[in-house]
Amino acid sequence: DENNPASSAVQAANFDMQLRCAVTELNPNYDFITAKYPEQQLREIPRNKLKLIRLLGQGAFGEVYEGTLKNMCANVSELSVAVKTLPALSTQQAETDFMMEAVIISKFMHKNVVKCLGVCFEEHPRYIILELLEGGDLKTFLRDSRPKTDQHYFLSMKELVHLSLDVANGCRHLEEKHFVHRDIAARNCLLTTRGEGRIAKIADFGMSRDIYSADYYRKSGKTMLPIKWMPPEAFLDGVFTTKTDVWSFGVLLWEMFTLGYMPYPGQTNSDVMQFVSSGGRLDPPEKCPARLNKIMILCWNSIADIRPTFSEIIELLDMCLQDDEVLNAPVGLCHFAMAESFKD
Ligand code: ADP
Repeated sequence: DENNPASSAVQAANFDMQLRCAVTELNPNYDFITAKYPEQQLREIPRNKLKLIRLLGQGAFGEVYEGTLKNMCANVSELSVAVKTLPALSTQQAETDFMMEAVIISKFMHKNVVKCLGVCFEEHPRYIILELLEGGDLKTFLRDSRPKTDQHYFLSMKELVHLSLDVANGCRHLEEKHFVHRDIAARNCLLTTRGEGRIAKIADFGMSRDIYSADYYRKSGKTMLPIKWMPPEAFLDGVFTTKTDVWSFGVLLWEMFTLGYMPYPGQTNSDVMQFVSSGGRLDPPEKCPARLNKIMILCWNSIADIRPTFSEIIELLDMCLQDDEVLNAPVGLCHFAMAESFKD
């Protein structure tokens, strides 16, 4: 009976209440998301303009499809899209969480953050319609780009720095909106394409969505947290600020220049918490140019306030593009035999 205005009002009020209850004083995204009826900020798209074509993968709620959207812009007759679905038989909680994801993504408008084109929330199954990012996730891409036996490098350092700049620019947009992502990592970035001209975008807001959920404490046992990407103040005290994302970005740089290694290979989350809180840090990627390694070290300062802003990180990465020592460095020159023993 979602067409019944009374029941919609109750739903909206419940949603609003859940939202306020889920938010604590440690949650820096509070202002960002406390609009009275967040679902009214979403653009409802007529379902008949949408065609689902093939399954892309499984999301937290339901399947994600590739599809097309007809006649939405003046000059484009058909747009390729990704459609996240929420099965008809979902709980009220899942409905709220699913809507929250759409609300979050819709707040951003940046080349390096996935765009939400609209939603179909008036009937079941509910859909979130996103721009299609055909290149898959950054971590898989990096791993697939490792030189095989013939020592042929598929990616240049310049391309890796450009991808790093893409993610840093997306992060700066979140920073400007005072939004803390909480799960910046290569696995959560998607690429427009695998070929030349690829653009990386921050595409998975699952962790930011989940902290608004009444289910959060069930969902986020310590085993669910991305400990290897988190700074000590986050895993010890639960403090999340943009500087948390800066630390995680440093780990993403490490993933980038190891071509997708698992950080702290062979160590468990609890090893890593102990190691990092007593001052231990990831080793620089093999033969990593000093200028790049320095950026990672800055991101991993144990004092959050001293870590650079994303604008500063962008400046430092830009300088890498002028530095022949960086541009001529060998890509992903790691001990691949050793890497084999740390399969994850
Ligand atoms: P959830 O956060 O709900 O778990 P994901 O965002 O991880 O869901 O999506 C599940 C799958 O759908 C992943 O394999 C992901 O690569 C794919 N996917 C998600 N969004 C897009 C998109 N915009 N374009 C292409 N594929 C996508």
